[in-house]
Amino acid sequence: MPTDVEIAQQFTPKPITHISEALGIEEQYLYSYGRDIAKVDLTALTTPTQKKGLLILVSATTPTPSGEGKTTTTIGLGQAFTQLNESVCMALREPSLGPCLGMKGGATGGGYSQIMPADRINLHFTGDFHAITSANNLLSAALDNHIYQGNALNIDPRQIVWRRVMDMNDRSLRKIVLGLGGKMQGIPREGGFDITAASEVMAMLCLANDAEDLQRRLEQTLIGFTYQGDPVYAEQLGITGAMMALLRDALQPNLVQSFEGTPAFVHGGPFANIAHGCNSVIATRMAMHHADWAITEAGFGFDLGAEKFFDIKCRVAELDPDAVVLVTTVRALKMHGGKNKNDLENEDLIAVEQGLENLDKHIESVEIFNKHPVVALNRFATDTDAEIALIRARCEVHGVSFAETNHHAEGGKGAIELAKVVMASVEKNRPFKPLYELDASVLEKVRAVCKAMYGADDVAFSKDAEKDLKQVEKLGLTHLPVCIAKAPSSLSDDPALHGRPRDFEVTVSAIQINAGAGFLVILTGKIMRMPGLPKKPAANSIKLLKSGIIEGLE
Ligand code: ADP
Ligand code: MG
Repeated sequence: MPTDVEIAQQFTPKPITHISEALGIEEQYLYSYGRDIAKVDLTALTTPTQKKGLLILVSATTPTPSGEGKTTTTIGLGQAFTQLNESVCMALREPSLGPCLGMKGGATGGGYSQIMPADRINLHFTGDFHAITSANNLLSAALDNHIYQGNALNIDPRQIVWRRVMDMNDRSLRKIVLGLGGKMQGIPREGGFDITAASEVMAMLCLANDAEDLQRRLEQTLIGFTYQGDPVYAEQLGITGAMMALLRDALQPNLVQSFEGTPAFVHGGPFANIAHGCNSVIATRMAMHHADWAITEAGFGFDLGAEKFFDIKCRVAELDPDAVVLVTTVRALKMHGGKNKNDLENEDLIAVEQGLENLDKHIESVEIFNKHPVVALNRFATDTDAEIALIRARCEVHGVSFAETNHHAEGGKGAIELAKVVMASVEKNRPFKPLYELDASVLEKVRAVCKAMYGADDVAFSKDAEKDLKQVEKLGLTHLPVCIAKAPSSLSDDPALHGRPRDFEVTVSAIQINAGAGFLVILTGKIMRMPGLPKKPAANSIKLLKSGIIEGLE
């Protein structure tokens, strides 16, 4: 099988105007970034269309560190719909440089199911991450400048909660001291950097309905406290107008195409372990507005990304998926069955059988939301028919639909069976039922997610978390949904526990108030908002060739 880069070179993109035309988007709504990328003006959402706008959510069982193939399956499925002559559009997240250069590699799919131009989408793209980083750091700069210029708001430098961000895995910047060097260099205080994909500005951009909504969210962002303990909001620094100016273009979704010419909006990229994990509401709406079938992905496993998709995104945007695809792989199930993550290539029926309990839990989890899952077995070259037969049989026991997919090796053709099963599943889906009501207490909300999604017995709040909770109550924000930050590699809050952990309690270490994004970040375990690089980062394999081609991004 050729590499992703070799496959990408076989590709001749259609002009982006052909892709937009297929969606019924007129040229006047496009801002082109070269031949094959365009931003689409938000007013395209107000043009009358006759599309059905059915929404398909793609999520997965608990992944291995290299991913289960949600993005690749989303793209393969989209291409299959195109091959079936259906009107279809995908909505995907934008890659962050952190995983691209760190552990995981790019996020544009793989094999014959890629979005194009993969190298540009993975690196810088249309500059949205840059704009988000700049808007975030303008607020940081204005905040420190305010204190330096006399601190009229009486902000306590020890109680600033707004952090700087950059789109890079760099653990050395997690905790730093700012303002060293004497009187002219600012006021010394502790601070630090998060990764842009975990920033509240990213979350706000992704959850905003429109520019007005984004402005309102920026204004009500909590940035710190005064010496008297009163909250300070971004609005008080008078720079949210400039933040909006920096974010103007970033708010417009990016239109690209897949290897087989299926349209895709690629917009917004919050992580799912430390943020809410789905592409922008605007991109999902654009896809639904301009196609009969819109396909979108929710990050990591169903317990993390999809839970937040339902309880946070669907609630604010009034969305409700018509079909849910649960991607799984033989490799991941073997890992859950006890195999080492570096030893997943050889047939091992016992490990697959033991690992199936992870799939069992996720199937149950989808059903808790009132949805009927379709299990998509993303086939790898090393999988055997006997291993796959075990998974198919387990799905039959559950009474859920199953399809094997070969979209990585074959493109859309390899996902046609999946597409047909997904279309047939639409009738079986009822309106989604959130895990908790917003007026429940914070503890009840966290407990509901931990019990129903993770399979925990209960939750415990640390002393710090109890203190944070008091602050949430004082600020009158208990009505917000919870965005639980948890390890992606386990259903539990202990990353080392595979399979279906039982008899455990989730420990909440702290609560962060994201008043602008409109959720409470509930931190469990040792979740970092700034990842580090692994011993051998993906960056070590990336090269720019003389021809201008970039190698090693997959
Ligand atoms: P996710 O979205 O679940 O994180 P991706 O779709 O990004 O996962 O896939 C992770 C990596 O695995 C990508 O490099 C992709 O090319 C590769 N991959 C996915 N499916 C297959 C497959 N069936 N065979 C080989 N490689 C695959
Ligand atoms: Mg993905």
